[in-house]
Amino acid sequence: MAPIGDTEYDLVVLGGGSGGLAAAKEAAGLGAKVAVLDYVTPTPIGTKWGLGGTCVNVGCIPKKLMHQAALLGEAIHDSRSYGWELPPPENIKHDWEQLRDAVQNHIKSVNWVTRVELRDRKVEYINGLGKFKDNHTIQTTTKQGEKLLTSKYILIAVGGRPEYPDIPGAIEYGITSDDIFTLKNAPGKTLIIGAGYIGLECAGFLNGLGYDATVMVRSVPLREFDRQMGDLVAASLQEKGVKFLNKCLPKSIEKQADGKLLISWTDPNETFSDTFDTVLFAMGRHASTKELQLENAGIKTEGNRGKINCVNEQTNVPNIFAVGDVLYGRPELTPVAIHAGRLLSRRLFGNSTMFMDYENVATTVFTPLEYGCVGISEEKAIEKYGEDKLEIYHAFYKPTEFFIPQRSIVHCYLKVIALRADDQKILGMHFLGPQAGEKILGMHFLGPQAGEVIQGFASAMKCNFTMKILKNTVGIHPTTAEEFTRVNITKRSGLDPNPQACCS
Ligand code: FAD
Repeated sequence: MAPIGDTEYDLVVLGGGSGGLAAAKEAAGLGAKVAVLDYVTPTPIGTKWGLGGTCVNVGCIPKKLMHQAALLGEAIHDSRSYGWELPPPENIKHDWEQLRDAVQNHIKSVNWVTRVELRDRKVEYINGLGKFKDNHTIQTTTKQGEKLLTSKYILIAVGGRPEYPDIPGAIEYGITSDDIFTLKNAPGKTLIIGAGYIGLECAGFLNGLGYDATVMVRSVPLREFDRQMGDLVAASLQEKGVKFLNKCLPKSIEKQADGKLLISWTDPNETFSDTFDTVLFAMGRHASTKELQLENAGIKTEGNRGKINCVNEQTNVPNIFAVGDVLYGRPELTPVAIHAGRLLSRRLFGNSTMFMDYENVATTVFTPLEYGCVGISEEKAIEKYGEDKLEIYHAFYKPTEFFIPQRSIVHCYLKVIALRADDQKILGMHFLGPQAGEKILGMHFLGPQAGEVIQGFASAMKCNFTMKILKNTVGIHPTTAEEFTRVNITKRSGLDPNPQACCS
């Protein structure tokens, strides 16, 4: 280990994504001398992007914009039944290039603002790949040549990248979420391999934009989520036209003379093949720790995805910390990375003693019928407390927006998992609805996407939310969020959870 003498920086941050930037800006605001290194290794087909990390460039933001584009397509069709006179459906077309350019232009503006923000806050930005030389020294190569940075503290916030399967043709012909948002040509008939939230979201917006989308599922859809809700999300996608290949594994990809991709796959009994224009892998992500040369600083990783196990974001080397997707056993979500990064900087430079609470973090899967949840799944609750100790409230409901266009309501469902004793403390809330996020109670926002159903309930859960409080909460009518305040049928009762009358 290097001696702790005078170092050039108070904090060097490896990775200019959600967590790294939040920590860097907070630390600089508290008077620390900070440098951020950010470098994007291009994908196998050469896609690269600017400052800001996964969320801004190849994650939440482009995904949400494409989701919105797909929702608008549905809205166009709905609007006919609301009296809008439109050209015949065959004359309503979507232009992939225009959407891609609009999304990319937005991203470029965010990249620019991020750079300006760092400059204004006196955070030094270095566009270089960082590696450990020792536990106080980072080595990087920039256009100006090799550079060594010494720092009192080092923060690893390098995030992760998508996995590729070890099959012939995967690297040459497959793409991932790192490429989809910049595709030169429209994706066409697409096979999405993997049914986690990223795979299902991509399938949802591609199908919504008019492309043939098939999802290959190895085990079950949304494996990390509540089982019943995961199955309902998949069923809702299927109803909209997404195809599913269940219990299948890819075998090989070949490029044919006409440019199409011939994919072979197996299910437990047989081998199949079909041609697609695009194959997108969404098979999970590994932490970008391989190139860091962690061994030079003595930092240990855990598991097979290069993640780092930390206690309060501190690695096994006391002056080195980690936040965001690189952390072992923590949710891979932007607000989690940001919050943990900010709190860490406040502890390091602002005398704070506040630690990150990773419990009850809310999230939403942005499939056409969105799925928002906070707390634990029904399975986890049963495993932890036993079925007898639980009360599962549930309901199917009819969103008002769906009445006139006569949209299918069969997958609009919610449930509340409560512990029977002690005022029925709520353990998990799961909401599958048209906008898993219509209103946030007690907050007001003017602009696109006015709030989300689950977010406010997440705050309530931080305050020991109980069924008694939920039942005593007056809903906002007519919203989908109010359906939570109306829920009174338990699974145990066996009563029909189908929609009650609208306004009584
Ligand atoms: P990142 O944002 O990934 O930033 C890490 C940065 O470090 C990158 O720029 C990387 O290139 C750089 N880097 C790597 N190695 C080095 C090195 N050695 N030296 C210098 N720089 C390096 N989260 C949500 O909350 N909501 C969503 O809706 C959502 N949707 C998503 C959709 C998709 C398709 C994907 C892929 C992710 C989504 N996420 C979502 C997850 C979210 O993007 C991540 O949780 C978040 O970006 C993690 O932030 P981070 O700071 O850990 O890493």
